[in-house]
Amino acid sequence: MSEGPHRLGIDLGGTKIEGVVLAPDGSELARRRVPTERERGYDHVVGRVVELVSALRPHAPGARRIGIGTPGSLSARDGTLKNSNTTCLNGRPLHADLERALGLEIVMENDANCFALAEVHAGAARGARLAFGVILGTGVGGGIVVDGRVWTGPQHVAGECGHHRISDDGPPCYCGQRGCVETFLSGPALERAYVAAGGSASDAQTIAARAAAGESSAVLVLDRYLDRFGRALANLVNILDPDVIVLGGGLSNLDALYTRGVAAAARYVFNDELRTRVVRNALGDSAGVLGAAWLARG
Ligand SMILES: [Zn+2]
Repeated sequence: MSEGPHRLGIDLGGTKIEGVVLAPDGSELARRRVPTERERGYDHVVGRVVELVSALRPHAPGARRIGIGTPGSLSARDGTLKNSNTTCLNGRPLHADLERALGLEIVMENDANCFALAEVHAGAARGARLAFGVILGTGVGGGIVVDGRVWTGPQHVAGECGHHRISDDGPPCYCGQRGCVETFLSGPALERAYVAAGGSASDAQTIAARAAAGESSAVLVLDRYLDRFGRALANLVNILDPDVIVLGGGLSNLDALYTRGVAAAARYVFNDELRTRVVRNALGDSAGVLGAAWLARG
């Protein structure tokens, strides 16, 4: 993959904005980060992105477009952002304003799509024709990459696996439905389930360690979690049959996902075996900014 000019990518997060320049062969030439300072408002955040791009452009000769990854969802209607945790960006014409301020073409995607794209080009899903990236963190999101490119769809919701329902009477979700995957498989959902089962407030790793030590409420809660993880993954496999499912987010560090979780998926999938590889991400926190850079390819 050595075609094209240098790639410049920006990961616009709620607390920091990070930028990277990749050489045509994908190697990293420069990386920089600045605080977002979102409390200072929309125009300030746009200005921060412009500053960062200006600092990185000398490292990216010939770059004519910039990839930007950010949390939230992009409206297919008008390109505005919604559901961003940097709330001052919501409903604002960020894409158009950045193109005007920078005089460059901007390609924008949400952070889950950038994650999947980075893992395909430089991480654990390298070489996969069809890859599904699933983020298990504060929320549950995902992205689909086909032949090295993000697949978005007419609604721009392709891969939003956090909001398919796996239970009619599950917990209410902020999206207005009940029993969405996110209400069971996010970090906060696991922690709530553990407290409801009589455990003390703990993070996912602690709950997993207690389950391994045989604590009954942790065992119960983790068993249920892995079963639902299996259902959710089996649904993805039955619909898309990806070559690889790559997991990201804090909960992707739970070892049991790759053993008992995958075994549960194999039980629910509409086939007598599960050949799809289910792998842990390889790029960690860098996937967002690297994926943004891969967006920028010609
Ligand atoms: Zn939902």
